[in-house]
Amino acid sequence: MKVLVVGSGGREHAICYCVAKSEKADKIYCAPGNAGISALAECVPIGAMEFDKLVAFAKEQQIDLVIVGMDDPLVGGLVDELEAAGIRTFGPRKNAAILEGSKAFSKDLMKKYNIPTAAYENFTDPDKALAYLETAKFPIVLKADGLALGKGVLICQNLEEAKEGVKTIMLDKKFGTAGNEMVIEEFMTGREVSVLSFVDGNTIKTMTSAQDHKRAGDGDTGLNTGGMGTFSPSPFYTKEVEAFCEKYIYQATVDAMKAEGRPFKGVIFFGLMLTEDGPKVLEYNARFGDPEAQVVLPRMKNDIIEVMEACIDGTLDQVDLQFEDNAAVCVVLASEGYPVSYEKGIPISGLEEFDRHEGYYCFHAGTKFDGDQLVTNGGRVLGVTAKGKDLKEARANAYAATEWVQFANKYMRHDIGKAIDEA
Ligand code: ATP
Repeated sequence: MKVLVVGSGGREHAICYCVAKSEKADKIYCAPGNAGISALAECVPIGAMEFDKLVAFAKEQQIDLVIVGMDDPLVGGLVDELEAAGIRTFGPRKNAAILEGSKAFSKDLMKKYNIPTAAYENFTDPDKALAYLETAKFPIVLKADGLALGKGVLICQNLEEAKEGVKTIMLDKKFGTAGNEMVIEEFMTGREVSVLSFVDGNTIKTMTSAQDHKRAGDGDTGLNTGGMGTFSPSPFYTKEVEAFCEKYIYQATVDAMKAEGRPFKGVIFFGLMLTEDGPKVLEYNARFGDPEAQVVLPRMKNDIIEVMEACIDGTLDQVDLQFEDNAAVCVVLASEGYPVSYEKGIPISGLEEFDRHEGYYCFHAGTKFDGDQLVTNGGRVLGVTAKGKDLKEARANAYAATEWVQFANKYMRHDIGKAIDEA
């Protein structure tokens, strides 16, 4: 069959890797893709938000399955447009992708259906938000309602900071229309765990757990980024935690979406915080996390196309989702200066080593070809993933593999997976 993957990051590279392994895939396209993906798929120069062009391309090429990897096109309704043109598509429709697209929606959903999450209030009026903050407890968390590239969350230590935050989000509109509404949320403490799941509208099957590292610097310092590394599984995601989430969070979310007339088909990402009062939902995403996908997907034993088709057809209950009994660590190689400013166009070498070693992967995020030469083309450049029999071995393997890769302004965190030692 012919498959089209929509997106251009490390996540889409990991998805293409799994699709390429599937016996069902005869031809893979990726729009727009990146330099690494072009080794597995034919990259087509259509942007993920160019819906008309994507639909036209899928019709012309008689694509059998489209996989939408990114949040913006999902929240914007790409799945609906493809389906309306008769194209089978993996991913939630617009009315279900709102689970990620509006934090106010997801908070109200959790409240209505008693799904554990931080206490909160939603605001559309900045004056009311400011009045509420006058009597609030600090620290407190301010969240722009809509998509903000993972940057629309402000943790405020005191009233002054919170007032500034309201201005940033609602008045200055730093995150655009994402700040038309705002959630003010209780500050929670605890370890964070990410759990991805496949959902077919009724049934949910969770994947193995993962943990990411959002801050740019070692020791969780510096600015928030798209993610500097991940490990999987999380040793803190114990059987007890899993049992709690199964009872109160996972199926409850799927049932809630169905009850609201917004059946969810695709991937739900649960961002969980393991608080003293038990696991609580920090956020939902309506797609694979990136770089979580880079440690979770290489460990999946199933044929990804079979699982995705089961989600589309509502037969996920018949799928036995299985993961390897090992571990994986991903260290992101970024350009020095990320996430603020950095140089691009710098030659990259050493990637041939990954073809010589089993269990090692180099997923591309910000790369391109300049003639025949691979060069950097973004802040997050590559995700170096390695497997190991356990987390410690995987971490050692991943860091060893980062040495294979050379580019002049290479930057990485040196403590990805440090939490493993505390487990
Ligand atoms: P992304 O999509 O990149 O994962 P996001 O913008 O959707 O991020 P959240 O995941 O909701 O934002 O929050 C980002 C981070 O802020 C969380 O990973 C967590 O570290 C912190 N955070 C969010 N809500 C709270 C809270 N209530 N208490 C403490 N920390 C929080």
